[in-house]
Amino acid sequence: MNDRSPSSLELLHFARRVVVQQATAALAQLDRWIADEERREAERRRGEERRPPPPEWLIERGLNPKNIVAVHTGDCWGLGDRCRPVSRSQALEALEHGVPACRLCRPDTALGYEG
Ligand SMILES: [Zn+2]
Repeated sequence: MNDRSPSSLELLHFARRVVVQQATAALAQLDRWIADEERREAERRRGEERRPPPPEWLIERGLNPKNIVAVHTGDCWGLGDRCRPVSRSQALEALEHGVPACRLCRPDTALGYEG
């Protein structure tokens, strides 16, 4: 060991190494956070793609399941739990057979049906 005190240049080089080490560690941490977030983002996107789109049209049945009591749009907020999704042509057909259009969501208007 020599006991001379380090020169300013040695101190500066030492300080530089410390800063590089800290910056490298911080960068590695940031890269891990970015990778985690990218993985979560990709999982969210995959989840959304898997989710089936809401049905466009719904038929509501009465207490007697043989009775169709109303036609709804798929996003009607006044729905009971006796609805099942149908195609556009099935919804139109129901209206043509005299099934009432829901007064909340007006599927007849949405279908362009002039009853
Ligand atoms: Zn409705």
